[in-house]
Amino acid sequence: MILSGRWVIPVSSSPLDHGAVAIEDSRILEVGPLETVSTHHPGHQLKQFPRAALLPGLVNTHSHLELTVLRGYLEGLNFWQWLRALTRAKYEILTQDDIAASALLGAIEAVRAGITTVADPMDIGASLDAILTTGLRGVLYQEVFSPKPAEADEALEKLKDKIRRLESRLSNWPDGAHFPAKHLDHGLSRLADRRTRVTLGVSPHALYTVSAPLFRQTIAFARDRNYPVCIHVAESEAETQLVEQGSGPMMESLRRRGVDWTPLGSSPVAYLHDLGALGKETLLAHCIRLKSSDYEILSQQGVSVAHCPKSNVRLRHGFMDLRSMREHHIPTGLGTDSVAANNSMDLFEEMRLALGNPCWMKDELTGLTAEDALRMATLGGAEALGFSNRIGSLEPGKQADIIAVDLAQPHHLPVFSPVDALVFSARASDVVFSMADGEVLFEDSQERSWIAPALLHSIERAQEKLQDARSPA
Ligand SMILES: [Zn+2]
Repeated sequence: MILSGRWVIPVSSSPLDHGAVAIEDSRILEVGPLETVSTHHPGHQLKQFPRAALLPGLVNTHSHLELTVLRGYLEGLNFWQWLRALTRAKYEILTQDDIAASALLGAIEAVRAGITTVADPMDIGASLDAILTTGLRGVLYQEVFSPKPAEADEALEKLKDKIRRLESRLSNWPDGAHFPAKHLDHGLSRLADRRTRVTLGVSPHALYTVSAPLFRQTIAFARDRNYPVCIHVAESEAETQLVEQGSGPMMESLRRRGVDWTPLGSSPVAYLHDLGALGKETLLAHCIRLKSSDYEILSQQGVSVAHCPKSNVRLRHGFMDLRSMREHHIPTGLGTDSVAANNSMDLFEEMRLALGNPCWMKDELTGLTAEDALRMATLGGAEALGFSNRIGSLEPGKQADIIAVDLAQPHHLPVFSPVDALVFSARASDVVFSMADGEVLFEDSQERSWIAPALLHSIERAQEKLQDARSPA
């Protein structure tokens, strides 16, 4: 197949006018001017996007698909109230079926938004079915929580058991798929290919929800099994207070639960480093409250970072210092975080917000460009996940994860630079085509209902439960 576009933006090289990408099976064969590519690959089916830019699929380095149904449910709360309300909704209001529907809705939103890869910490494992059903590529981190040191062994055994079950579900899929076959309108062999897009990992959630011994044991388990690791760190003021002074709302809550937490006087990042929790396999989400010595630690340990600018603003945490991350050559991708915090999954919006970060505006000469922002949302994200040899740019030999973004909408015209248009005026809804491993995931022209009535019904039921739980009795 040959895809041609008004523009082709490989990210790893300069944009092409009237370019094309030749694809065979799951890989890219050639990227170049349409005439050249057509001549080199006669007989290939040509699919044209005369109004659109073709670019690598977007990489969302931090999502929580399972929490999609909480979009708009937790407004106006401070972070600690927000976390508690979210936890209550997950464990006391929603059923596993509700969370499965929530994850599928999130995966559909991602595909429609031009995201082809997600890095997604999950609790009950619902993201696995969701990304297999939609065809997304993903790193799915099984979360582990348990702040009481005495319960570390038990929590680790539960984690291992969950991972065993995930591996079994993955190798058997689509047998035992959570969603009915009507969502799976592709041939079975094609569906089986989707399993190769899934990487399992583990996520010891955060230093205030996971005890020090459980951190050590989980990291040892992950390293033994070569699993990637995702940790939330240096996000809130309360977390810094807990680590540095042993005070604040997190400390009070832990005390109420009978957890003995000794303040260390160091930073959250230094705390993780002291535990031996940081390495090349680690992706850290947020990293807002860092000391200058923390950047050295991240750089030396080969850690990657998921930058979530909109979530950080919406939850009033502040801004990550992108300039320092870049100066220390720390691989950094963009993430939306959960839509419970965001409230949308739109990486075009994250690109703009990353550029508008006040840490950058302090020094106009830092020179972060639209190209830098687009790179963070594609190749930068791929680097942060350790996938840059396979995805993140349009180059021969890479997997064909490609999207088309319509740049002929009124809010784009006129287009002097397709990269500026993508970064400064595009929206998730401008995406008209998406492919992963050469498999078409979404096509705007298809007369296909993306949200099946059964899924919509499940979401409405979950919403009613959430609404009822909030109403005074
Ligand atoms: Zn998160």
